[in-house]
This record gives sequence, structure tokens and C-alpha cells, in this order.
Amino acid sequence: MKPLLTDMSLPELQQAISTLGEPAFRAKQVYGFLQRGEDFSGMGNIGKGLKEKLEAAYDAQGVRVLRSFVSSLDGTEKYLYALRDGNVIEGVFMRYHYGNTLCVSTQVGCKMGCAFCASTLDGCVRDLTPGEMLSQVLVVDRLHREGEKRGVTNVVLMGSGEPLDNYDNVLKFLRLLNAPEGICISQRNISLSTCGLVDKMDRLKDEGLGITLSVSLHAPTNEQRDALMPVNRRWPLETLLPACRRYERMTGRRIVFEYALIEGKNTSLADADRLAALVKGLRCHVNLIPVNEVKERGLLPPQQKGILAFEKRLAERGVSVTRRREMGDDIAGACGQLRRSHLAGEQDEQGE
Ligand code: SAH
Repeated sequence: MKPLLTDMSLPELQQAISTLGEPAFRAKQVYGFLQRGEDFSGMGNIGKGLKEKLEAAYDAQGVRVLRSFVSSLDGTEKYLYALRDGNVIEGVFMRYHYGNTLCVSTQVGCKMGCAFCASTLDGCVRDLTPGEMLSQVLVVDRLHREGEKRGVTNVVLMGSGEPLDNYDNVLKFLRLLNAPEGICISQRNISLSTCGLVDKMDRLKDEGLGITLSVSLHAPTNEQRDALMPVNRRWPLETLLPACRRYERMTGRRIVFEYALIEGKNTSLADADRLAALVKGLRCHVNLIPVNEVKERGLLPPQQKGILAFEKRLAERGVSVTRRREMGDDIAGACGQLRRSHLAGEQDEQGE
């Protein structure tokens, strides 16, 4: 594969363009086009010579939209992207009153092995580069800026992959996303979700970022969490919670805990009490997610009544809690399902 232009910061692009023997001021123009989600074909006035040289040596964007699906329920959009090497990843675009959020993937697949997650079923194929993550944002932003006034305003690293397992690339992506001369998404509008890699959380807290850290908690005891998330054996709750406290203290940003409600696994009122005790004294917010059913996993969300009772109990115990709205249910909105059905479809076609 050729090197990727969206992997580069503006100074790196300036360097690359002067190496091609072209004036450095051209870099700003090229950078501007890239940041607006354009490929070479959309780069109007950069000069034919430069365009040819760039095209011979580099790729522009790291992904292209292979297919998109729009939910008739709530307008949520699901994207299937092709990477340059033929791998496929997915993303979700959600409209909220405060802005438009894009859910970005950080790896092809995932190696964390969570019991409820479709992304991890076939393991991790590879890490994404910073530009491959950035291009997901840029091309979807472009699609929306064309028709509507508002493109992507918020980014969540909650697609396939464990962001902190691809630490250096994710960090560079976050800096590119926030660069003043780029798409410049405010760090306040960025959330990074982790299954709880404690050593990397401790590194992240010292990076001077203003992003929100989400931690996938999903269970209030080691016994329950071990059964759902293999990572808990490496970093059990008694090491994870102190790391959350250190992160909160260092950054001043409250932690968001994600808690997928799975019938019969973690939804009793005693679980709610244990959860409240676990996070006591920590500035945080708990996001309840009725688990998205993944066929292969046989795990189901509780009934509405159970969800409300769990939420109420947490609130009574003084925990700040909301229930995540389910979006895009009709378009395989949940984690990793679209890629899987795409891959399965491909195999079917080949099999016929
Ligand atoms: N690896 C990161 C980010 C990936 S997924 C992490 O673990 O946090 C984003 C969130 O979706 C995580 O909280 C993850 O646990 C959750 N998730 C995965 N599969 C799910 C499912 N079937 N139903 C509900 N939430 C799910």
C-alpha cells in the first residue's frame, strides 16, 4: 500500500510536498481538500504536476464508503467502509439535538473477546492507522455538509476495536482531529471508550487531553465481569476503579461508565446496589445500554420494567444515570453486526 496523506499532520505534509520539489504553500491547499473529505479527483486548483506526483506516490483518503443504510425509525445512518487493502469496517452516524455524532472504528475486528460483542468474534485483523480513522470522519462529514448545514460535530471511539490497544495511532488520530487547521473537532466533543486497559488509561491521563473517557464496566463483581470480559482477569475491578479515580483526578473530567444490561447476568437490584457502592465518591455518570442482541451470543436485554427498576435504584443510591437511546435498530445498528453480515454475505456468494 502507498503511504496515506491523511496520516500526516500539516507540517508532515509540508515536508512531503517540498520533497517532491513543489512549493510548501501548496501543502495548505492540499491539506484543506483532504480535511474536507476530498480525494484527488476533488482537488481543483493545486496544479496538474503536483496532483500527478502526489497520486503516483500516495493515497489520499484511507476509506471509501462501500454502502450506507438509513434507519427509517430515527434517521441514524450506518456505513460500511472499504479500506485500501480490501478490509471492511463500519460506522454509525447519529443525529442528536446538540450535534451529529460519528462512531469510529479503531481496529479491523478486536482481540478483547467480550462475550456480548460481535466485533471480536473473528479476532483482530489489524490496527487502523491515524489517517484511516480520520478519513472515516472526513468522508462522512463531507456527505452531510453537502446536503445539510451540519457535518460531524462529535466523535466517539466506540466502533470495532479497542482504542487503547492501538494507542499510538489513536493518539495521533485524536491530535489530527483536533488540529486547528483541520476539521478541528473540539476535545469536549470526543469520547474514547475502553474495556479497561489500566496501564494505557494511566498513560492517557497524562496526555493533556480534554476528551471524555468511557469505561465499559458491564458488571459490579469480578466474578460476573470475568464471565463477560476476559480483560477483567488481567485488570480486575480492584485495579480498574482506582485507575478511573486517578484519571478523573488528573484530568478533572468525569468518567462515563457503560453498563450493558443482560438478562440474568447483571440486572438484579443487588447488582445495582453493588454498582453504586463500586463508584461511590467518584465523579462519574453511568450509561445503561439494554444489550443489543447478537445472534451468535444468545444474550438478551431485560424487559422494560427491569431496566427502569435498575435505573431507579441507581438514582436512589445517588448515581448519575441515564439510559442510552437505542438507535438504528432496523439497520443492524449494534456493534460489529453490519460488518459480520457483510462478510457472511460475501461468503454465501462465493459458496454459490
Ligand atoms: N473496545 C472499546 C470500544 C468498543 S465498543 C470498549 O470496550 O469500550 C463500544 C461499547 O459497546 C462498549 O461499551 C462495548 O462493551 C459495547 N457493546 C459491545 N457489544 C455490545 C452489545 N451487543 N450490546 C450493547 N453494548 C455492546
